[in-house]
Amino acid sequence: MSVTHSSRSSKSSASDTETEDDNQVVKVAIVGTGLAGLATAYYLTSASDKTVRYETHLFEERTSIGFDAASVSAVDDNGVEKRIDVPMRSFADGYYKRVIALYRSLGLQFHDAKFTYSFSELVNENTNTYFLHGGRKGLTNGGRPAGVGRVKYITDLLVIALFYLYFSVIAVVKTPRGNVSVSNDDGYTGKNQGCIYGSVDMARVHSNIESFESYARRFHIPQWFTDKFVVALFCAMSTCDAATIKNAPAADIIDYKTRTFGKAHYVLSNSSRSAVSALIEPLNRENIHLGAGARAIIRDGPTWTIHTAGGDYTHFTHVVFATAPGRIGTLYPPFASALKLVKTNFVKVLVHTDERVLNFLHPQNIRELNLLCLPSGTEATHVLFPGVFQTTNPTCLSDDVDSDDFGGRIQKDKILSESVFERVVRSNELVHAVDQLRTLQGQQNVWVAASWMWEGLVLLEGCITSAEFVCNGISRRSSSSPLSAEKV
Ligand SMILES: Cc1cc2nc3c(=O)[nH]c(=O)nc-3n(C[C@H](O)[C@H](O)[C@H](O)COP(=O)(O)OP(=O)(O)OC[C@H]3O[C@@H](n4cnc5c(N)ncnc54)[C@H](O)[C@@H]3O)c2cc1C
Repeated sequence: MSVTHSSRSSKSSASDTETEDDNQVVKVAIVGTGLAGLATAYYLTSASDKTVRYETHLFEERTSIGFDAASVSAVDDNGVEKRIDVPMRSFADGYYKRVIALYRSLGLQFHDAKFTYSFSELVNENTNTYFLHGGRKGLTNGGRPAGVGRVKYITDLLVIALFYLYFSVIAVVKTPRGNVSVSNDDGYTGKNQGCIYGSVDMARVHSNIESFESYARRFHIPQWFTDKFVVALFCAMSTCDAATIKNAPAADIIDYKTRTFGKAHYVLSNSSRSAVSALIEPLNRENIHLGAGARAIIRDGPTWTIHTAGGDYTHFTHVVFATAPGRIGTLYPPFASALKLVKTNFVKVLVHTDERVLNFLHPQNIRELNLLCLPSGTEATHVLFPGVFQTTNPTCLSDDVDSDDFGGRIQKDKILSESVFERVVRSNELVHAVDQLRTLQGQQNVWVAASWMWEGLVLLEGCITSAEFVCNGISRRSSSSPLSAEKV
């Protein structure tokens, strides 16, 4: 027998327009507690006022809040316990306008991570470190890779700097075809004043989207430069293979590059946990349902019921999906056809203490972020603090691809945590799926907020931008009383 939960007070009834203490109570189910789900719940709850009270419920299939679920704690050399974000949750000035505005409004502390980078590649089964990047200190301040003579280093540096400058100028003056540029600039105050968000442009449809590869070719940016630097870096950021980045909308890369040029890359000083605490602060804890994966959403008159393994939760006016696209298509078939071409990939992230993971590098070439760029994707090892590493996309460098320690690179008993993440692949198909979903958003009061549900790279900024759009749509409907479930 299934249990039926309803957290409405005894004063209120099942109708989505009835009032509680003269307030209109709008009950919203949010499926998924990554940053998109948390932000949606936070914005809506904070937007409650004298006329409308949003009763937001979060449903998460894991037993802890998704945004922090894979993070771990480790002890540094000084015996101090540190919380490690898994996966990395960095955000840059210029691109992450809404993330930064939200974090600021929540009073969260963040700092410039000042990452430095080493770039290596595999050539005839040998690794070669071809560049050290000084990060915010500048392209030319990374240092000379060990084993590279002074003359070759200076020549290489001059050539790289020249093409970097050329690419930077092209990126500023030449807009990619198809005009898919990020939509996070409009009228957001960042203040906790409820839903003061940008508008949802329902009509926007993109066509003739230029791929990055074609853009680079059009402007004669040499392939060695794009492969070794641009593609390698974006493979690491997007945790995908080189072919995916080459096929991705050029605007993704050009927008990110121009917006973050010379800007700081931040991390939260007190880990993602500080964001989780602040975002759930206004919520009623009884309405955070952990270990409660949504198995079905069922239309029940004008409202929705969320069916979970632990029972049914009833009388929701709105349902917001904040999960990977595959889950949404299964739970809500009207969105399935828009989502069927969207691809995702799975990426492994290990936090471990095996120093051998960087044995492919000369000790002088180790930097904070060590990228091993392969056509199948970039392996990235972040030196978190001495002796503790986070390796994303760990790769076996020997022929023994079946070995369970990545060919002697990461021993099993040195692994502190192992996680696999599903990530949406940014492609033309995704752009079209987002276009299509935008026209379906809010039909039957069902919505999607997620990192991939916007016009930029699949990153945290998409979570906040899409959460705002959804909150905007819900609040527009809620203020017009009475609510009609079918009203768009
Ligand atoms: C290795 C890696 C590194 C990254 N680094 C960065 C970075 O440095 N900066 C950056 O901006 N972005 C980064 N990203 C991307 C970013 O982390 C994600 O895009 C973002 O966190 C996704 O947030 P989301 O809320 O859309 O979805 P998710 O975080 O995937 O949340 C979805 C939640 O829904 C839950 N769920 C799924 N199905 C159900 C169901 N049926 N019922 C209930 N719950 C369900 C899941 O358990 C999950 O908790 C990285 C991603 C990866 C994989």
